[in-house]
Amino acid sequence: MHELGVVFHIIDQVEEVAKDNDVSSVSKIILQLGEVSTVIPEYLTDCFVWARAKHELIREAELEIETIPAITRCGGCGRTYGTVKYGKICPYCGSDRTWLEQGSEFMIKEIEAV
Ligand SMILES: [Zn+2]
Repeated sequence: MHELGVVFHIIDQVEEVAKDNDVSSVSKIILQLGEVSTVIPEYLTDCFVWARAKHELIREAELEIETIPAITRCGGCGRTYGTVKYGKICPYCGSDRTWLEQGSEFMIKEIEAV
C-alpha cells in the first residue's frame, strides 16, 4: 500500500524534527497535499491512525491535510488553468505544451508539539 509508505516517511521526518527540537510528544501534523499527487487523503489518514498507535512520539497527534490545487501553465499562451478540469490541453489556445506548475507536492507544513 502506497499510503503506508508515505506515512512511514512522514513519521521519519517528524521524528527527526522532534529530536532536533527536543520534543517528546507531537500534538498535530499539518501536511500539504497536491490535488493531483498520487496520495489519497482518506487512505493516508487511515494509515496514519494505524501507525500512530505504534509510535510514542505521535500517539496523541492529529493529522491535518491541506489540499494544494493543481495548476497547469501553458507554454503556448503563457496562461494558467485548473489541471483537474482541463488536463494537458490548454483551454485557451489548444496547445499541449503545458506543464504542471503546482499540485503534485507532498510536504509537511507544520508540526505542533505539546
Ligand atoms: Zn495556451
